Amino acid sequence: MDRDDRPPYVPPVETYQCCHCGGTGLDSHGEICEHCEGLGFC
Ligand SMILES: [Zn+2]
Ligand SMILES: [Zn+2]
Repeated sequence: MDRDDRPPYVPPVETYQCCHCGGTGLDSHGEICEHCEGLGFC
């Protein structure tokens, strides 16, 4: 039985720091950034 259980190769996803919150996911008021929804990138 040949079984290939190796996890699929996941290439690094190029992400960009959010231009609104600078990658923190929070805006200047400490609220979830509306631009990236708290993800920190967009
Ligand atoms: Zn942004
Ligand atoms: Zn943001």
